[in-house]
Amino acid sequence: MRLAGRSAIVTGAASGIGLATARLLAAEGAAVILADVADCGPEATALVRTGAAARAVTCDVSREDHVRRLFAISRQDRGRVDVLVNAAGIGLQRTVVDTTLGEWRRLVDVNLGGAFLCCREAVALMRAQGSGVIVNVASELAVVGAPECAAYAATKGGVLQLTRAMAADHTREGIRINAVCPGPVDTPLLDDMIAATPDPEAERRDIMESALLGRLGRPEEIAHAILFLASDDSSYVVGTALVVDGGVTAV
Ligand code: NAD
Repeated sequence: MRLAGRSAIVTGAASGIGLATARLLAAEGAAVILADVADCGPEATALVRTGAAARAVTCDVSREDHVRRLFAISRQDRGRVDVLVNAAGIGLQRTVVDTTLGEWRRLVDVNLGGAFLCCREAVALMRAQGSGVIVNVASELAVVGAPECAAYAATKGGVLQLTRAMAADHTREGIRINAVCPGPVDTPLLDDMIAATPDPEAERRDIMESALLGRLGRPEEIAHAILFLASDDSSYVVGTALVVDGGVTAV
């Protein structure tokens, strides 16, 4: 029970990495708010049935009013926020020339703007508490390039730099801020990005082969890395990019 008595918010908790993280943090004793633009009600109810403290909040992380409400609910419920995991995100499989301004703006608003808005609320609260942990879900594409993901990679590079710069500002206020950089993980987001390619089957095979492990990651494998960063096990880890990619970026 590494998070017993702690209060956590996980965005993007309706699916994939966010859902696996919400489940793991709850299993480790945290009271978890599952936040997503999609309904997390059934997932929260399932967690409550296991004896965990969990609740769902509908929240579009790109909207300032939604994010303010999310943190107000958490404050009301628990009086504090000890852990924030920013996992909400969207993908886009396009070169820069094929990306419309509308698509660019939506990616930036959700992937980078959402992290900014949630971090801003969290830092204000955690600073007053004198403690807290933030884990931002960036991507291997924050540290390397790849074909046909220009806008997506740009937002993830932004998330990583936001993480490092915030660590510079807030570590001495008792807030530890880190990023996890997943490689290809078997979730609807990756499925959609693969489906948008001319030969999805070949694309999926190529992606799996790009990992030294020869397979996609599972959301739970990223959740364990996030738990490490969210718990006291990583008490001397600050402003880092923890790459969890099956070896994609090792060679
Ligand atoms: P996913 O599609 O399974 O989950 C993403 C969740 O974010 C969904 O539940 C979706 O409803 C939610 N979401 C989307 N827009 C939102 C918004 N505006 N407000 C609130 N919630 C919103 O995908 P995933 O793969 O689990 O992605 C989680 C994070 O991991 C994302 O930030 C993604 O960029 C990142 N990531 C994924 C991979 C991968 O291969 N799957 C690799 C690297 C990084």
